[in-house]
Amino acid sequence: MDSPDTSNAPAVVADLIARAEQVGASDIHLQMTGDGLAVAFRLNGLLAPVETVAKPLAEQVLGRVKYLAKLQTWQDSTPQDGRIAKEEVGARHDLRVATYPTVTGEKIVIRLFTQADPPSLAELNLPQPARNELEKFLRQPSGMLLLTGPAGSGKTTTIYSCLKFLQELGDRHVITVEDPVEQVLPGIMQTDVNEAKGLTYPKAARHLLRQDPQVLVLGEIRDDETAQIAVRTALTGHQVITTLHAGSVGAVFERLRVMVPDWSAVVSSVALVLNQRLVRTCCESCAGKGCDSCLQTGFRGRRPIAEWTSVNDETRDLLGNGGSGTVKPSGQNLREQALALLEKKFTTEGEIHRILGA
Ligand SMILES: [Zn+2]
Repeated sequence: MDSPDTSNAPAVVADLIARAEQVGASDIHLQMTGDGLAVAFRLNGLLAPVETVAKPLAEQVLGRVKYLAKLQTWQDSTPQDGRIAKEEVGARHDLRVATYPTVTGEKIVIRLFTQADPPSLAELNLPQPARNELEKFLRQPSGMLLLTGPAGSGKTTTIYSCLKFLQELGDRHVITVEDPVEQVLPGIMQTDVNEAKGLTYPKAARHLLRQDPQVLVLGEIRDDETAQIAVRTALTGHQVITTLHAGSVGAVFERLRVMVPDWSAVVSSVALVLNQRLVRTCCESCAGKGCDSCLQTGFRGRRPIAEWTSVNDETRDLLGNGGSGTVKPSGQNLREQALALLEKKFTTEGEIHRILGA
């Protein structure tokens, strides 16, 4: 077996990128420690240790990554951001590089950007009723879809699948504000938020609404102003698709109640709330025991589970009476869906515990 040349920094960097792509990792984490450079891959959303590169090669590896990303190689006390074009390292993905100073030394995260088409709603593997609700919403001319769930629960992928659906539906002017734009979709007008340059979500959204879109996609509602713009836009004959950090469907309404003074506007604008998680599925090569292709984690790939509330007259009555905390999912809840995956041996009890708690 040919072992890769790991005697010099360029070869180490190329080898790490190739291995990360091979296992399907989303990020490469390089953390300087007392022993050298600790390398970990993010696989299925979680970090898995890979190896430690000994000094002095460790420092050269960091230098090489910074050089490729056109960053200041001597600078390790302030964060820097850059990109590496895939051609430069023979990779299949474009790479986004972020450096952070930490107490034990510099940390670099290399993110692998997929250029593949986003999955269709069918390919997302959402439970069928949740998918039906999404499609029903997307065919409507107006109203707001709110996706919720913790970081890494697949909200962005769901948004991209919705965008793909709208793209195929055609005839709609779709505008997005994202932080950052992760994939470029033909026919959709996408804008990057740039907080450093003062282009915030509310500013970008207000500016872009002058283009008179039919659909406005906001990557995230982070502040009251954005929440109010989203509600107003959905009430004035537009479709709005966005995400809000909350743990449940009820919590989404609780947060909106705080963020938007006009509660009746919230109640009338929200059409669908989807609360999702990603459940890691057992590695098929080793049946969950751990092997090289799953970095000994036993998992390969993830499937979404999602509970939702479609806001109908009954829900509006309930919300109108101030009962946002009592809004219940319309179909199977997250736990019921997780247990269904367990029954089919797609996942493990430990994984369900990790995702949903006790
Ligand atoms: Zn395996």
